[in-house]
Amino acid sequence: GLSGRTVRPKLIITCGVSGAIQFVAGMNNSDNIFAINTDPNASIFKVANYAVIGDIYEVIPKLIEQVKQGKGVKA
Ligand SMILES: Cc1cc2nc3c(=O)[nH]c(=O)nc-3n(C[C@H](O)[C@H](O)[C@H](O)COP(=O)(O)OP(=O)(O)OC[C@H]3O[C@@H](n4cnc5c(N)ncnc54)[C@H](O)[C@@H]3O)c2cc1C
Repeated sequence: GLSGRTVRPKLIITCGVSGAIQFVAGMNNSDNIFAINTDPNASIFKVANYAVIGDIYEVIPKLIEQVKQGKGVKA
């Protein structure tokens, strides 16, 4: 972020990140930003391409399950 390091991945999944400007400055050029946050007003949603309003402890396990199913892997 503002402290120096920036990233530009094809996909970044932010988990419980508020979207402080110092953080966003380091990742807002990523191709796809997928944000999960319980706060619908979190700043990260202003830069996110995909927004999930929810608890990461509920969303992440379901996401992993869906990814596994997409690959045909049994849980
Ligand atoms: C000079 C300066 C330079 C800085 N440089 C950088 C930098 O380079 N990089 C950097 O990252 N930061 C930097 N910071 C810090 C930055 O300002 C923020 O403090 C930091 O990015 C906030 O991190 P956060 O989103 O993890 O925490 P918070 O702002 O505390 O946000 C936590 C978020 O998590 C959500 N949340 C909580 N529990 C859950 C849950 N169970 N499920 C889903 N969501 C949940 C909350 O709703 C909240 O939005 C800098 C600060 C300063 C002053």
